[in-house]
Amino acid sequence: MSTPEPAEQLRYFRKRQTEIVETIRQLVELESPSDVKQSVDRVGTVLASRFGELGGRIRFHANEKFGKHLQIDFRARGNKSKAVLLLGHMDTVYPIGTISKMPCRVSKGRVWGPGVLDMKAGIALAFHVIEAVLEWNDGKMPRPITLVLVSDEEVGSASSRAITEKLAREAAAVLVLEPAYGLHGAVKTARKGVGEYALQITGVAAHSGLDFEKGHSAIIELAHQILEISKLVDSKRGLTLNVGRINGGMRTNVVPATASASIDVRVVSAKDVAEIHRRLTSLKPFNSHCSISVNGRINRPPLEHTEAVAGLYFKARDLAQQLGWDLEEAAVGGGSDGNFTAALGIPTLDGLGAVGEGAHAEHESVVISELPRRAALLAGLIERV
Ligand SMILES: [Zn+2]
Repeated sequence: MSTPEPAEQLRYFRKRQTEIVETIRQLVELESPSDVKQSVDRVGTVLASRFGELGGRIRFHANEKFGKHLQIDFRARGNKSKAVLLLGHMDTVYPIGTISKMPCRVSKGRVWGPGVLDMKAGIALAFHVIEAVLEWNDGKMPRPITLVLVSDEEVGSASSRAITEKLAREAAAVLVLEPAYGLHGAVKTARKGVGEYALQITGVAAHSGLDFEKGHSAIIELAHQILEISKLVDSKRGLTLNVGRINGGMRTNVVPATASASIDVRVVSAKDVAEIHRRLTSLKPFNSHCSISVNGRINRPPLEHTEAVAGLYFKARDLAQQLGWDLEEAAVGGGSDGNFTAALGIPTLDGLGAVGEGAHAEHESVVISELPRRAALLAGLIERV
């Protein structure tokens, strides 16, 4: 046997649609919030066993705080080409117990549940695609594949970043199993870089009745700084800063000595990373009796629309055309682990996972009828990149 034509692949995955949904259900029902190590580890164990049965070599990367990151290698005997790296994450944003409020269910042509789109369905697709490629090639991988499923993506990937980057450097290309963009299923060829900054103001406390003039309000200083920060927004350049949380003061009869703010920063271009960092860390107090400290950084560089990224998209679009569909591309504001690999210059295509709606929300769902062509696209790319 050998790899069938794209249209034949599509028929193959259509026949397995129900099986794919069952794998999705198995993964969604195992809740896996980033901050509950043992729960994410349970997903890792189940996946290790399923991919192990396909012949993958399993490796767990231990870490103290989060679940073990899972690396699965499929070797291709006699094939010396670089591996294709499939990138995914096992963690979700939903706390334990969410599944009882939004149970995994199939209705209206979709499968619903916490983390189903972001990105349990992406992992399920990778499983059935690898299974198929093996079946089409008499149990032998036509090229090496490495799959890495991390456990801390939803909280910034601090503990897995080095692993992802090391594997990406060894790879021919990176295919990211994050959800597609929109119900047309566009792939993501640009993502903003993301950072978080904390602003801390220290003023001088005083009794608001007895000593009002001796006080220097940290809250008033913070108010000025927030307006300064909002002036740094440059929508044309895709540079945004959002003061998303503020804190300050003790009680109404005390001039507040402390106030703080947390800021979400997004950049389109790598060139802007250093500049926005410099601007934020050099904010000067309006009131000389107040002091300011700013901590933070852009922790995900932008995934820029480079030639390497565009080249991979064109391959995907050609393949999609053979499957009878116009594959669109999209630029999005959210980051993923694909940001890390693209910033290294490794061709990266993101949004190859499932099609659906409502990531991180109550109506999170995956369109079942789209699963076969996502699978066929991923299978085709694995062999062609
Ligand atoms: Zn995700």
